[in-house]
Amino acid sequence: PPETRRPGLMGRLFGAAPPTPAEPRRELDDAMLEDLEDTLVAADMGVDTALRVTANIAEGRMGRRLSATELKTLLADEITRIMTPVARPLPLYPKTPQVVLVVGVNGSGKTTTIGKLASQFRAAGKKVVIAAGDTFRAAAVEQLQVWGDRAGVPVMTAPEGSDPASLAFDAMTRAEAEGADLLMIDTAGRLQNRADLMEELAKIVRVIRKKDPSAPHNTLLVLDATTGQNAISQVETFRRLADVSGLVMTKLDGTARGGVLVALADRFGLPIHAIGVGEQIDDLDAFEPRDFARALVG
Ligand code: GDP
Repeated sequence: PPETRRPGLMGRLFGAAPPTPAEPRRELDDAMLEDLEDTLVAADMGVDTALRVTANIAEGRMGRRLSATELKTLLADEITRIMTPVARPLPLYPKTPQVVLVVGVNGSGKTTTIGKLASQFRAAGKKVVIAAGDTFRAAAVEQLQVWGDRAGVPVMTAPEGSDPASLAFDAMTRAEAEGADLLMIDTAGRLQNRADLMEELAKIVRVIRKKDPSAPHNTLLVLDATTGQNAISQVETFRRLADVSGLVMTKLDGTARGGVLVALADRFGLPIHAIGVGEQIDDLDAFEPRDFARALVG
């Protein structure tokens, strides 16, 4: 059952016992606040955010005796408040083709997310084209082709090792010619050589702007929830490499509860467009702050 797979955050503060009619209460004092901070930091929320959340909960409540249930509610409300402004689906613009550049480290779930998004947009009546811009990984291109087939969406590919920017240009040409609503461009995620990757992404952007100066309309950064705190440095890195406009967090179906999303929302305020909750094509959900906060608090 989910309870055993995802133990609640309150165990540390109140013991592991489930709530009973006479729930134990604990006075909200400095020791309890410190425990709460530690719990939030351990849940990947980051020190700054943990301190702020704790301070908000403490405000006007010092000395009160709280049960785990009451504290959970306060915590879930705080988290919901932080997350609500960033819960925004990928915006669709009247300008077509809308170009969505998808960035992120290898293995984060870019290919899978592109396939899932393509399927959703197609189901919504949109015409989608995908460009397999990670031309250096033959396996990545193949995998994207598989996802394109599943979603019923054409995937533009180029021979291994060819210039991703020229593929992006060709994909723009095709998307325009076919009257596509959306062009999603996969990109390489090799962080080993950041200067190269930056140049590669910049060149893709330069080239597609020859076709449409307003493109790319979105730059989606895909993050893997299982990397925990590492997601923060990935956002920092990719914001230097590209003009990141929004996030998708994948693998929230596993043991990772995605506490780092709270830190990301608090720190960067980037919209969270969707969350990945499995390996199947329909396993992409809208980000719901209240559901997320409840699951995180446990
Ligand atoms: P890429 O290298 O960034 O393109 O990553 P992939 O899309 O190939 O995904 C890497 C692995 O993560 C694959 O095994 C996917 O099935 C898996 N994956 C992607 N998204 C999710 C998700 O939301 N949940 C789970 N459980 N696995 C996912």
